[in-house]
Amino acid sequence: MLENISVLGLGLMGAALARSLMAAGHHVTVWNRTPAKAEPLVAEGAVLADSPDEAVGASPLVIVCLLDHASVTETLDGTPLAGRAVVNLTTGRPVEARRTAEWVAERGGDYLGGGIMAVPPMIGQPGALILYSGSRPVYDRYEQVLSVMAEPRFTGTDPESAPLLDIAMLTGMYGQIAGFLEAAALVKAAGLPLRDFVTTLLTPWLHAMAAQQAGWAGNIESGEHGTEVSNLEINRAGLENLVRAFREQNVKPDLLLPLKAVIDQRTARGLGHEGLSGLVEEL
Ligand code: NDP
Repeated sequence: MLENISVLGLGLMGAALARSLMAAGHHVTVWNRTPAKAEPLVAEGAVLADSPDEAVGASPLVIVCLLDHASVTETLDGTPLAGRAVVNLTTGRPVEARRTAEWVAERGGDYLGGGIMAVPPMIGQPGALILYSGSRPVYDRYEQVLSVMAEPRFTGTDPESAPLLDIAMLTGMYGQIAGFLEAAALVKAAGLPLRDFVTTLLTPWLHAMAAQQAGWAGNIESGEHGTEVSNLEINRAGLENLVRAFREQNVKPDLLLPLKAVIDQRTARGLGHEGLSGLVEEL
């Protein structure tokens, strides 16, 4: 079913979202603080609203993708939100999402927040994911529209859940990037072929190791941190060995040291028999 949709915010991400909706045939009204950014979309068939008021008034579904939550409430302040489905795809912290959801509800709108797990060129393509939380009725009513932009995943009615899971996903990503950067620094400093190392050794190894995470998650949920695979004492010795090796190779192990500190802390409590999942108790 083709819908009337307003998109507020035509930065790199907002423009990509609007374009994907237009490509699916929806009637898209756009607004941006700097109107010139709307010109390419208008040339492709979007309707330009002169104000946030006009944009919100044009469609029952209002998609907002701005810099931050402060710019969202600033932009929507005084607009006719009553009866509108407000889908906020602006990145924010869980507490900000809760505040914005309440702010929208106070003005009669129905709030669904989303965390975009993609960069703009991925929008509308397989592999893009958006985590949603907030109004289940809005999600159910517009699920097909949302799936045009990216695979949608509803994570709960608490508006905090999507931004929290978004942050958790990014945390996993940054941890992997930290390991990659340290490994790359070590291999480069030794003058070994880095690209070959990454494609034939590191990436397949990381994929294989990632399979352990579901088991660790089970341990963490149950609070049972026993292991028959690799205990903390062995990992403490392993990290010690890594750090010494880095220093001997004149490479800084700075991104590894925080992990080593937490392992040292846990083993110092006499819990070296536990598996790596026990470290969560220290966090
Ligand atoms: P851009 O910097 O390209 O665009 C920012 C947008 O916010 C512009 O439309 C800008 O308007 C608008 N804006 C900024 N401040 C205000 C304000 N005070 N009032 C009204 N409008 C304002 O950023 P992106 O499009 O890349 O990002 C938008 C959101 O999407 C962010 O929350 C970001 O975290 C999220 N996101 C982006 C990803 C990416 O890879 N780009 C990935 C995942 C999420 P103007 O044009 O007038 O400056």
